[in-house]
Amino acid sequence: MTTRNGREAPLTVGIDVGGTNIRASVVDGSGEVLDTVQAPTPHSARALEDGLSRAVRELRGRHAIGAVGLAVAGFVDETRSSVRFAPHLPWEDSAVAKRLTERLGLPVILEHDANAAMWAEYRFGAAAGAHNGVLVAIGTGIGAALLVEGRLYRGSYGVAPELGHLQVVPQGRACPCGKRGCWERYCSGTALVDTAIEMLATDPMRSTILAREVFADAGSLTGRKVAGAAQDGDPVALKVMADFARWLGLGLAFVGDIFDPDLIVIAGGVSSSAALFLDDAREHYAAAITGTRHRPLARIRTTQLGEAAGMIGAAELARAALDTGTPAARARRKNAEAPQPQSSTAESSRAQPNGAARRPSAGTGTRRR
Ligand SMILES: [Zn+2]
Repeated sequence: MTTRNGREAPLTVGIDVGGTNIRASVVDGSGEVLDTVQAPTPHSARALEDGLSRAVRELRGRHAIGAVGLAVAGFVDETRSSVRFAPHLPWEDSAVAKRLTERLGLPVILEHDANAAMWAEYRFGAAAGAHNGVLVAIGTGIGAALLVEGRLYRGSYGVAPELGHLQVVPQGRACPCGKRGCWERYCSGTALVDTAIEMLATDPMRSTILAREVFADAGSLTGRKVAGAAQDGDPVALKVMADFARWLGLGLAFVGDIFDPDLIVIAGGVSSSAALFLDDAREHYAAAITGTRHRPLARIRTTQLGEAAGMIGAAELARAALDTGTPAARARRKNAEAPQPQSSTAESSRAQPNGAARRPSAGTGTRRR
């Protein structure tokens, strides 16, 4: 399975580097997760890289691994070898891929976690067959990714798109990013809590379930509890979900007006409650986008790969980078305009954005659910 002739895909490791946990999986060329290890995320850069190395070594003890991809919750530079900034990780302007490559002796690439998830959904999941796609991962905040004509769109400096921080309410709710009224302040798990508390403050008597929760311990309220209360028919929680659906539809309509996508994937923790808001959000999207009766509208679907999408996508992007570095791949591309990559990871990483994007999406199917 690990031949490097370009015919059979090597196994690669995808690692979801989150603020709480690191999860590392061995993933095959069809997007199947074969093995996973998990550990808490350490708080220093040195300890984090030790932890990542340990996870890869453990998996390498059981599988022949060709390359490693990291899905990082933060800004990754355009060469995908350094982390510019990650609010919940101890890396800043840090050449993470180079150091890990030296330690592991394997090519290592980095990718923004939402981009990695988008790539996984495109190759193996909900976005298979899409041409222009948007992924919106809704959890504590919003992570977003754009697929433009079958390629991940990363912008000029690697940081696009930051859809969650589009200002939708001038002087609205304060955001940790320093601005006010960002979309994710009204359309996220955190927003469900904030909206619920605001609504309960004005009309506490209507609520049957949520009011009890909040009066017992307001700090314990979570987006999941709000969705649960809505599921159980709490009138205020239902109103909160309706408000969320409106903001989701409106925000997606902004994105739709700019990118005219054919597919939108809703991912992240909140997507598990999609039955409570997705139909309404579609209606708000259709009502808010420009010229709705005179254009086809994007399909809006939920994630197929769920929490594993970031790992699977990072592993797949690492595999693509590896492929651009093989002798066979070099031979195929000898007349291509891109510089010929050497086998060193830094070179592979630089060559990869083009190489990955040229890979076709066909033939992978939609097996995973
Ligand atoms: Zn913001």
